[in-house]
Amino acid sequence: MDEKTKLFLRNLYKKYYFKHAQKIVFPPHINEREIGYMDFEGKMVRHLSFKNEGEFMADILKQGPASVFCSNARYENPTLPMDEKVWKGAELIFDIDADQIETNCRNSHDFWFCMSCSGHGRSPFPQTCPLCGKGIIKITGRCNTCIGNALKHANQVISILKDDFGVNRSEIKLYFSGNRGFHIHIFDNRFFSLNQDARLEIALYITGESLPPPKALAINIITKSNSEISGWLKRISNHIKNEKGRTNTVRLITNYIHNSLPKIDHQVTSDVHRIFRLAGTLHNRTGFLKVEVTGDDFDPNYDPVVIDEEAVKIRVKYYPSFNIKGEHFGPFKEEEIKIPAYAAVQILTSGLGEVC
Ligand SMILES: [Zn+2]
Ligand SMILES: [Zn+2]
Repeated sequence: MDEKTKLFLRNLYKKYYFKHAQKIVFPPHINEREIGYMDFEGKMVRHLSFKNEGEFMADILKQGPASVFCSNARYENPTLPMDEKVWKGAELIFDIDADQIETNCRNSHDFWFCMSCSGHGRSPFPQTCPLCGKGIIKITGRCNTCIGNALKHANQVISILKDDFGVNRSEIKLYFSGNRGFHIHIFDNRFFSLNQDARLEIALYITGESLPPPKALAINIITKSNSEISGWLKRISNHIKNEKGRTNTVRLITNYIHNSLPKIDHQVTSDVHRIFRLAGTLHNRTGFLKVEVTGDDFDPNYDPVVIDEEAVKIRVKYYPSFNIKGEHFGPFKEEEIKIPAYAAVQILTSGLGEVC
């Protein structure tokens, strides 16, 4: 990325934060959190810390980072190396990524480009450019299908947390990540001091991976009355009741487990030393906001789009057509265009365009 483009993006993000500082959601005890930044070249700085929200906010305005991260953990000394920080506990977090869920929309918004020979194509991505053998740039997009699917998985996780763990909905925050997934932050103190193993156990329970084999489940469901079962057994039983008669119980259970259990990233949940994008801040790649999802009608190409409409002139190498906020852009090839800043961010951060 050239200096002019970097400066443009940095100023664009700064301008957004200057106007909408109040949208940032600081978790409690911000002074005990590890903070991290990433700049527009992808360079990370970690182990930062701020005394209070005001000081943190002022620094975001000064730096204009491409990404702002904050730990779910709280530490005695957040700025020290990891093994000297003194871990006090961490909120439980789940990460649901559209990439882990099969959908057939990929090819409508994911593409690759070769900087060496300008070769390009749609997903699935080749390892290297099939025309010249050099490395390629891989660009992923999003649509209501893949994001809607990921949201379904996220809501399933929330239901299980409520039904099987007794978590109050008001202690669960569901956020769109700003790109291709969702983060669920749980502020229920019962989970706060759990270690990695206990968190992994919860993750494996929620994804159904720790369930007994289908045959054992079938025996339990067939021999026990509805009032004797709870949790997964009850969910599976309710599901197969509607499907009965079509095929045998073990097959029904196997299919249900294969197709309907929520997919989450275990590592994210079990790792207690991570930093996550701070809610209410912009995504480095899309310029979209990490925004709380409250209703059922979330639209990933509308709701998180918060950056300026002001038109900017950019030079584009190549970019296929895309939609944001109901507006259609592209396709572009070796041309100078003038488009709203929120759409320009998509192209500029991909490395396939520069500010004129
Ligand atoms: Zn090539
Ligand atoms: Zn999609």
